[in-house]
Amino acid sequence: MARYRAGILGATGAVGQKFVEVLNGHPWFEITALAASERSAGRPYGEAVNWIGSTAIPEEISRMEVVPVTPDLDCDFVFSGLTANVATSMELAFAQAGYPVISNARSFRMHADVPLLIPEVNPDHTGLIDRQSELEGYIVTNPNCSTVGLTCALKPLHDLFGLEAVQVTTLQALSGAGYPGVASLDALGNVVPYIGGEEDKLRTEPLKLLGTLTQDGITPADIKISAQCNRVPVLEGHLECVSVKLKAQAVADDVRRAFELFESPVRHYHLPTEPPSLLQVFTDEYFPQPRRHVELGGGMTVGIGRIRPCEVLDVKFVVLVHNTVRGAAGGAVLNAELLVRQGRLASRLQEQTV
Ligand code: NAP
Repeated sequence: MARYRAGILGATGAVGQKFVEVLNGHPWFEITALAASERSAGRPYGEAVNWIGSTAIPEEISRMEVVPVTPDLDCDFVFSGLTANVATSMELAFAQAGYPVISNARSFRMHADVPLLIPEVNPDHTGLIDRQSELEGYIVTNPNCSTVGLTCALKPLHDLFGLEAVQVTTLQALSGAGYPGVASLDALGNVVPYIGGEEDKLRTEPLKLLGTLTQDGITPADIKISAQCNRVPVLEGHLECVSVKLKAQAVADDVRRAFELFESPVRHYHLPTEPPSLLQVFTDEYFPQPRRHVELGGGMTVGIGRIRPCEVLDVKFVVLVHNTVRGAAGGAVLNAELLVRQGRLASRLQEQTV
């Protein structure tokens, strides 16, 4: 198997560090460039980064020099964990210079020609890349971290029964706010009932993800979504309380079976980061819990529990997603693996791979 040289933009941030962890020992991708702001550039990564991971920084990565975020990096493609305010111009500059950009930032998620991608949900949406013909490279994005968990759970229900309305209340971990993130005096022993921009992302991004690819782009799914988002004093793992109104008649047991029988449409690609199952259903009423279950499937499996009738809509349940793995770096690495298997990295980079 060819190995691809990967750069990380925003390598020193919370998501950038997860990229370093997830890519450590990856069979296809090797980190050859670490880029961050002027504050970090020119320093060894181990010195520049405020490492918040629980495993040590890989030795050879620790010694690598951090470089500025300029589109002349020594790599075949880049993962981006840049903050949104700088991602817009910098990701575009990389795509214009010929790099495939696999991004976590919100900047291009809802752009009509940019795939918003979860490989198990909408692998065909990479077809939108063909519409980015004005760029030498291209941009592919992964969704907001709460959107990922919600949409993975909605996918089998959308396919089997159709969805009319969704009501979701999130309990989101502190790591979702990056580092240093929420001030300790706001977070400890407290819940903050507002996360800027989050409710809008949960309302709109699933519609694109569950939408249909046509010759004219994506036709969004027609589902009403109402979201309420809260920051809670949890380190990793967003919990989401979801109620759904279905188009076809179905009861809680039908919904449970839909989750249990869901089959990944990309299983045949044998993507290294794809977990054994996208969804894991719990029967214990106390599960899933962030501290106990966030690492399911290496952080790539979405936990679902408490599936029961809803007195207002049809059925309600709880979803747990690892916000910095499935919801950020792991999701982006899986996106890049899908692009390799679809021939969208290989065809562009054939001469450079070994
Ligand atoms: P973060 O911890 O604040 O990290 C930001 C990164 O961007 C750092 O590497 C920083 O470099 C770099 N940066 C900032 N300003 C820059 C500039 N002017 N020029 C070049 N580089 C610059 O943020 P994060 O939590 O990792 O989030 C990164 C992105 O992922 C955001 O767009 C966020 O919305 C998205 N996201 C986050 C999560 C999550 O769970 N945290 C989940 C999904 C998506 P320095 O260290 O040198 O300043």
